[in-house]
Amino acid sequence: MSSPKKFESKAQPLVPIGDLAQALLARWGFDSNNVAILPARHPMYRECERHGRYPISMVDDQGVVRYLQPVCPACAAEAASRGLMERAAIPSRYAECDFSNYVVDVPGQQTALDVCLDYAEHFAEHARKGASLILCGNPGTGKNHLAAAIARAVLAMGNSVLQVTAYDIIARIRETWRRGIGNGTELEVIRGFAEVGLLIIDEVGKTFGSDGERVHLFEVIDHRYRNMKPTIILSNEDVEGVEQYLGTPAFDRLCQNGGLLIFDWQSYRRGRPQ
Ligand SMILES: [Zn+2]
Repeated sequence: MSSPKKFESKAQPLVPIGDLAQALLARWGFDSNNVAILPARHPMYRECERHGRYPISMVDDQGVVRYLQPVCPACAAEAASRGLMERAAIPSRYAECDFSNYVVDVPGQQTALDVCLDYAEHFAEHARKGASLILCGNPGTGKNHLAAAIARAVLAMGNSVLQVTAYDIIARIRETWRRGIGNGTELEVIRGFAEVGLLIIDEVGKTFGSDGERVHLFEVIDHRYRNMKPTIILSNEDVEGVEQYLGTPAFDRLCQNGGLLIFDWQSYRRGRPQ
């Protein structure tokens, strides 16, 4: 039998409803002493140091005051896009890379810029066709710069973008071979890579490229091909090197509807004073 003492200890003190309303208003940053919370006083505004005035309340069709989240919408949009950039895993050294700061010294760079800019601007169209892009050639010629610029533009259109190295894909798939909870199955991992709006695979050809590695990359590229999802390949190899590393079936899928850009000019990292 429970004692009255126990019952007492569980009882909550009654809170007057007016205090609750005031506490709520205070939590949302309103002055609880302000009794003039009348439709005529709305919308109310706040000032963002960087973006200026933004509304924190509105009056709806029924004449009822609605409070909005007291957060600057421009700042919130910036934070969301930063979050996407982090998830996109754009390497931090390329985080500032944009089409506007890509340096054009030779005609080949202009062609590369034009093709990549077109790819980004008409991404929806390219994505519908599953059109991929292979950027290959000499290191230091701006392949990663242009890939980061495409990623940034495609992200801004609301697509998911993921940049990984070929090694990341192989390692992630092989992780599923180890027994343990949370590794997922091989197929789950492959499907994960296959569902991203734009997948950028970097460092293709850096490792030896065993038959086993080729199979993993083929599985991911083939799933994306069948889902009509575009993939961008970045490689320091020449065209033959990329084909050899990926294997002809994967290479053929990427080339179908796709573009191939050969970065065969001198590295600007070497050619430019630091
Ligand atoms: Zn702001």
